[in-house]
Formats: sequence, C-alpha cells, structure tokens
Amino acid sequence: MSTSVDLWLATIFEEVQPLFGKGRVADYIPALARVEPNQFGMAIAMVDGRHYAVGDAHVLFSIQSISKLFTFVLALKLIGDDIWQRIGREPSGNAFNSMVQLETEHGIPRNPFINAGALVVTDILTQRYAHLDLALLNFLRRMTDSPDLNWNKEVAKSERDTAHRNMAMAYFMKSFGNFVNSPELVLDNYCRQCATEMSCTQLAQAAIFLANDGLDIGSGEQVLTSEAARRVNALLLTCGAYDAAGDYAYRIGLPLKTGVGGGIVAVIPNIGTVCVWSPELDAKGNSLIGGYALERLMQLSGWGRMSLA
Ligand code: GLN
Repeated sequence: MSTSVDLWLATIFEEVQPLFGKGRVADYIPALARVEPNQFGMAIAMVDGRHYAVGDAHVLFSIQSISKLFTFVLALKLIGDDIWQRIGREPSGNAFNSMVQLETEHGIPRNPFINAGALVVTDILTQRYAHLDLALLNFLRRMTDSPDLNWNKEVAKSERDTAHRNMAMAYFMKSFGNFVNSPELVLDNYCRQCATEMSCTQLAQAAIFLANDGLDIGSGEQVLTSEAARRVNALLLTCGAYDAAGDYAYRIGLPLKTGVGGGIVAVIPNIGTVCVWSPELDAKGNSLIGGYALERLMQLSGWGRMSLA
C-alpha cells in the first residue's frame, strides 16, 4: 500500500528528472570523475522502524565527506569534550578544502566537518586504532547490519595519489603542534574512510541514532548520549554543508552532511533520517539534485515546521 511518504518520494523523483545535466560530477579525484551522472536515489528511515526508498536508493556510492560525520562520532565517543582543544565548532564560510584560516587560527581548524577538521579527527583516531579502516567499517557494518560493507581500493588510491592539498594541510597543522601522527599515515586512513561505499538505504539506517536521542534502532546500541546526539546535530546544521551551510539551513533547515560523491545524509530529530544521492554537484561541492530533493521533501512533508530541538 502506498503511503504519503511513498507519494512524496514519487513526486520528487518525477521533479528531478529535468535537472540532470545542470551540475558537474566531482573530477578532482580521478576515480570519481568516471561515475555515471544520471543517477538519483533517496531513502528515508523512520525512528518507528518503517523505511522508504525511490530510484537508485540501493546503489552503492562513494560516501566521501559523509564519513566525517561517523569519524567525528567515533572520536567524540573516545575523547569527549577534549576534542575541542584541537578543533573549533564554528562554520568556516570557506570551501571544504580551504586552508586560509589555518594560519591566523594557529593550526586549529574551524570545525570537524571541513577537510582540515576531519584530518585532525582522523589523527585522533589513528592514535587509538591500529586499523582505523576496520574500526570504522565495523561500526558502519553494525549500524547497517551489512557485513559486506567496504571501502573501494581504486577510489582510495586515486584520492591518495592526488591528495596534495590535504597533505599540505596536515603538515601545516603539524607545524603548529596540532597533529600527532605522520601525515602520510593519517592520509592513508582518511582516503580509505572517504572511499567507503554505501547506499542511500544504508546511510539513512546508519545515521538513525542521531534522530533517536543517540540510540540505534537496529542494534539497540546507545551510540551517543542524548545530549551528545543533540550537539552533533547542532554542528551538522551549522557546518555540515561547508560554505553553503547557511543556504542549506534556510532552504532545508536540517542537520545534514554532504559529500563530493553526491550523497547527503539529513537528520529529522525524533522522526527519522533521509539520505539522497545524485552525483552532479553545485559550485560548492554539494549534490545539486540532492539539495533540491531535500528542500522539496521538507515542503511536501511539513516536517520542517516542527521543532528541531
Ligand atoms: N575525499 C574528499 C576530499 O578530501 C572529500 C571532500 C568532500 O566530500 N567534500 O577532498
């Protein structure tokens, strides 16, 4: 039986068709430039256990910066508020891979969701985990009940071979004393985490604890305290879409994390999570069709009219 959620998804699926071709697939990581642009998937997981999907919602894609959300959660679990000694929590207003603020701000990145901040998060995790890729995969496999979930070797290598800017940022932060491990080792881990492949349905499921006071529904695991989950959501709302965070908050109004693979994961507190994927990006590196689809979902559902708190 079709529900109103199925109808909203069907409407959005129709509406996005004319939008293909208006953005550009990320090409600064060679392996990503080869992704077929004409794809669109959207999945919704509700805190009551229902789930919905449309289009290419089961196709695996490169989660890229969406990984920053999960590594940040792991680091927060590990060191709690000590993380704020090494990373700020303000929107940067600059591109995701910008390094301009690092000099005047003494090697402390503005927030955990820009590249510089995520590199520090990966540095923290690299200190703790001998095999960080496995620690992250195990977490995501548990959250999605998908034992086959993995990172893509070709994508990781392609990014690692061309990671000059991220490497420069890591060394720059090291010069300020804000980097513990060797930048080479951290970059290996960072490129693997970004190359993780997941589908919209898996990503919506993996993030559901953020909509549910920190409690994962499938595994019954309390991933974060309710207070910590609320704080992660606040950071996602203000910093999750880089220098488009203000525009995204205005249009969509949800805590969310974007990635240059074209995925966006959004949290609707106490209701559920949404993941949308379409590879063509806008000028700020966020999925063009993905942003539109989320905006329309919020209009059609009225969910955004409820309190975010
Ligand atoms: N792996 C990408 C990078 O570091 C992730 C960027 C992104 O998704 N915005 O450049």
